[in-house]
Amino acid sequence: MTERSKVTVLKTVEVHASAGSNPALSAMNYENLMRLAIDEARLALDHDDVPIGAVLVGPNGDVVARDHNRREERSDPTAHAEMLVLSAGARATGDWRLTGHTLVVTLEPCPMCAGAAVNARVDRIVYGAADFKAGAAWSLYNIPQDARLNHRCDLIAGTLEAECSTLLTDFFADRRTS
Ligand SMILES: [Zn+2]
Repeated sequence: MTERSKVTVLKTVEVHASAGSNPALSAMNYENLMRLAIDEARLALDHDDVPIGAVLVGPNGDVVARDHNRREERSDPTAHAEMLVLSAGARATGDWRLTGHTLVVTLEPCPMCAGAAVNARVDRIVYGAADFKAGAAWSLYNIPQDARLNHRCDLIAGTLEAECSTLLTDFFADRRTS
């Protein structure tokens, strides 16, 4: 089985599981939200950061925060897109608990970001491309769904996967040739 087909299987299973357990949120258009995250990811190119974008969506479907990877720009190993939107969302709502929120991100979260999403108590993580080298929301670990932790998030993988992964492969191809 190829890596791509595994992601597709996960997406199908998780979308159905999520829609069943959260009927109020099943109407949310994850692809439109992912397009916002992709727009954010492109902004990272302005400061030579890896193009990864994230959007935090509130319980009513409103976009609470959007940002992109700023690790190079800020010389900060924690300035991943997901960390930035979780912090911004908590500031905006005045509560570190982001219950009812959905984190939409172009690349599968790393252990730090997956851990932060669990700590923030987000309901759901939606991601585009899987990260077979560092992903902690299924690929290497599944932190958001680890029963030993005190909170679990629904996972929806593979949303606009091709566009999300093309952003990254183009970025690294450009760097190799320049
Ligand atoms: Zn991360």
